[in-house]
Amino acid sequence: MRVGNGIDVHRLVPGRKLILGGVQVPYDRGLDGHSDADVVLHAVCDALLGAAALDDLGAHFPDTDPAFKDIDSRVLLEKTVTLVHAAGFVVYQMDITVIAQAPRLGPYRRQMRAAIAEIAGIPADRVGLKATTTEGLGLFGRGEGIGAMCTVLLEEKDG
Ligand code: MG
Repeated sequence: MRVGNGIDVHRLVPGRKLILGGVQVPYDRGLDGHSDADVVLHAVCDALLGAAALDDLGAHFPDTDPAFKDIDSRVLLEKTVTLVHAAGFVVYQMDITVIAQAPRLGPYRRQMRAAIAEIAGIPADRVGLKATTTEGLGLFGRGEGIGAMCTVLLEEKDG
């Protein structure tokens, strides 16, 4: 088994859709970024790449490349899973924490887990997803941004 961790933070701005874990969440602002700025999927990708010692998301999909402008991060996750497979691993399990003062993510949790599990090629009961506030403290508490952390386990193919 290999373990990896990933973390990402994006700024909340007006005039953008809020996409988290591959799901559009109704809110008055969205995350700013070169891609769709899905912090959850970016943290998952970095955890996967880290576990396989394949550098990081920015190394594979640079935010200076116009090919990735406004890209659906589910595509980045698909490409990342392909890299992980090519390196001789399959995804075994992952656990995600989203840090956001608002909105409430409980109603979307099941949908996010299903979306991530499908792309990762694992059952949804191997995708943990929690959300926490920071009790109003710091950049997250002031609603300046949303963050996500992920830990993954990879398994070597063929034992
Ligand atoms: Mg990011």
